[in-house]
Amino acid sequence: MSTLHQIIADLLSAIKKTDASLEALKLDRIEIKDKYDPIKLARAQFNSWRDSDDGKIFKKKLYKKQEKKCASPTCKMLGHEFHIDYFEIDHKLPVSSYPHLALDKSNMHLLCTPCNKRKSKKF
Ligand SMILES: [Zn+2]
Repeated sequence: MSTLHQIIADLLSAIKKTDASLEALKLDRIEIKDKYDPIKLARAQFNSWRDSDDGKIFKKKLYKKQEKKCASPTCKMLGHEFHIDYFEIDHKLPVSSYPHLALDKSNMHLLCTPCNKRKSKKF
């Protein structure tokens, strides 16, 4: 093979290797971004806290504080009292925009299930 042909073959081989490395980096980037997504991490931390004893006690406190009523001023069942299981802890400022407030108790209130579903559709 002539020197020129050898150089071209080497260049093509180098380009192929570079492309493969870039593809691998792209996959790593997606994996890292997914693993360390602050919103996903915040949601996971909140869910774990919510299901803990501390989270359950806090929910009971909110339930008493809100006098068994939904915190939404636009609730279709406004002013009605419900069983505690009918409520979900909601973030006043959503975790999707404020992941650092996911465990901030002052950012939490109880919404009835339909209100919470309505709100989560918006975000
Ligand atoms: Zn409601």
